[in-house]
Amino acid sequence: MTAKIIDGKEIAAKKRVEIAKEVLKLKETGITPGLAVILVGNNHASRTYVNNKQKACQDLGMHSLLIEFPETVSEGELLSKINELNNDQSIHGILVQLPIPKHINEKKVIESINPVKDVDGFHPINIGRMMTGQDSFLPCTPYGIMVLLEETGVSVSGKNVVVVGRSNIVGKPVGQLLLNQNATVTYCHSKTKDLLLHTTQADILVAAVGIPNFIKADHIKEGAVVIDVGINRDETGKLCGDVSFADVSEKAGFITPVPKGVGPMTITMLMFNTVKSAKNAGSI
Ligand code: NDP
Repeated sequence: MTAKIIDGKEIAAKKRVEIAKEVLKLKETGITPGLAVILVGNNHASRTYVNNKQKACQDLGMHSLLIEFPETVSEGELLSKINELNNDQSIHGILVQLPIPKHINEKKVIESINPVKDVDGFHPINIGRMMTGQDSFLPCTPYGIMVLLEETGVSVSGKNVVVVGRSNIVGKPVGQLLLNQNATVTYCHSKTKDLLLHTTQADILVAAVGIPNFIKADHIKEGAVVIDVGINRDETGKLCGDVSFADVSEKAGFITPVPKGVGPMTITMLMFNTVKSAKNAGSI
């Protein structure tokens, strides 16, 4: 079998056309969706992500605000800026680009964002709402994965899903969203004793490990849907995922490539969440 490619770039572009229409509608009512991004320090990867988020905002006709702090910023200064943005009516989404320096309490920072502007979906209130199946801001990468799965036309309900990775931003929430859609979900992680025992049972496998080409053809069941969240560099410096694409794509039914798989969906869902927040603000 040769897997069908789930084209994240194309699906994201389609979704962005819908979002752009929503932005236009909001603008006609006098509301321009606004996203504020806080960048602390000079991490190269973080700066690239932030630039991409700003560009996506501009492309969609949204308002984007970049606030930069030096590495030495105090926790108090950061919290005070977040408080200011919580009260700024032109801002509908606030995100703090992670990681932040160790001297600042990350949990405290995330919890200081007003949940109604938490478009990253990291605030415990939004996570709790997601867990209990209530309306909330869904974390962007897991949400993007759900959209990709929907596009395959493969129903999630009743399927065996294995998520490799249990981080708060990817692994745990994507498993929860799949459970909400009636999948039978197994989480694997670094302490899992027999990884293959689990992964070979998966109708849908989500790899969010952060190790280049970690998942091989032996890990998967023939015809499985394989979602590769990883963004890594291999030994030659080339961008690659957590899944060994060359061999796994010969056995899987569907597969996301890296790049142009999950990656483009993450920023798209951030834009979606910001527009959703602006719509909520408009209806208050
Ligand atoms: P983390 O490092 O936070 O989590 C990695 C997870 O993998 C952990 O739960 C860890 O287990 C598990 N793990 C590590 N080694 C093994 C192993 N040998 N066997 C099984 N499980 C293992 O990473 P993230 O979740 O933040 O990110 C994962 C990948 O996704 C990265 O490559 C990252 O760059 C990428 N990413 C991509 C995004 C996108 O937009 N496409 C967005 C966010 C991340 P344990 O908990 O036991 O330590």
